[in-house]
Amino acid sequence: MNNRDIEPLVRANIRSLCPYSTARDEYQGSIGIFLDANESPYDTGYNRYPDPHQKAVKARLSEIKGLPAENIFLGNGSDEAIDLVFRVFCTPGVDNAVIMSPSYGMYGVAAATNDIEVREVALDEEFSLSTEALFSACDSNTKVIFLCSPNNPSGNALPMEQIEKIVTSFNGIVVVDEAYADFSLLGSLRSKVNEWPNLIVLQTLSKAWGLAGLRLGIAFAQEYTIRLMSMVKYPYNISQATQNAVLKALAQPVEEKIAETIEQRGAVAEKLASMSCVKKIYPSDANFLLVKFDNADEVYGHLLADGIIVRNRNKVRGCSGCLRITIGLAKENKKLIESLKEYEKGNIRR
Ligand SMILES: *Cc1c(COP(=O)(O)O)cnc(C)c1O
Repeated sequence: MNNRDIEPLVRANIRSLCPYSTARDEYQGSIGIFLDANESPYDTGYNRYPDPHQKAVKARLSEIKGLPAENIFLGNGSDEAIDLVFRVFCTPGVDNAVIMSPSYGMYGVAAATNDIEVREVALDEEFSLSTEALFSACDSNTKVIFLCSPNNPSGNALPMEQIEKIVTSFNGIVVVDEAYADFSLLGSLRSKVNEWPNLIVLQTLSKAWGLAGLRLGIAFAQEYTIRLMSMVKYPYNISQATQNAVLKALAQPVEEKIAETIEQRGAVAEKLASMSCVKKIYPSDANFLLVKFDNADEVYGHLLADGIIVRNRNKVRGCSGCLRITIGLAKENKKLIESLKEYEKGNIRR
């Protein structure tokens, strides 16, 4: 595949789209008397429209992530990037997308709002993906495959060789959602986006960077794809407040926090392993553990009554009996273990 070879995958109306040109696109200088955008002249800190291309944030992310700004798209959370993939590549009522199950719920929701059929490929008991099953779910109208690695809610990363096989043999777009890659030893595929033109890698500042409240999602892809997504997004999708706060936050290193979370993940898993109410702890490359209990609903209720909120995944395909537990601060994790010990003693709260 050449860079331009993905052009036929793009919806015809998007290929011929003439994007909105902002006042800041038409005049790019930063000094002068600005009477072109109908802004208020009175300084509130936010009276000017933000940079629609987020140049400063992209320059900083480019340093951190080791890819040129041309390969970076910024969205209002990863959710915006997921929605844009459908809007750029998938014709409503015609095209379909293939996703793994169980996985992140937003792929299905964004597909449904765009009237795109979703085909689910069940993961096996260990949450591994069969490449054959994935490809047999695809047909000539399959425009996008969504992979999530490390996967939510199971926590495991897919083998890199398997993702490579899928990306290099599929004749459509492959999105690899790496929201949790910072917690995985396998690392990221983002450096491949200029080699594999159909690859889109999603990352986010919501997890390892601790900025879920700011809403900043990142897509890495070849320049042509980034230009398409930028053309379709709302011009001012990242507010000035977010751009300012992100730039400030990116100056603070996160390596120590990530290392601490990984260390705590191991410690919590070890404690859980010795408990009789725990049936299985799934291996995790993320900042959470999927844990199978003898009676998940009862454990969920007990923890809740104790003021500890986890995610009940008991009703999710392949996750029966499971709770998803985010790794918190050491003292929070300690409370969790203490509460479960009380449960084991028969002091069950309801
Ligand atoms: C949390 C999460 C995200 C992050 O979404 P944002 O909109 O960036 O907050 C993306 N993908 C998966 C699989 C997640 O679990």
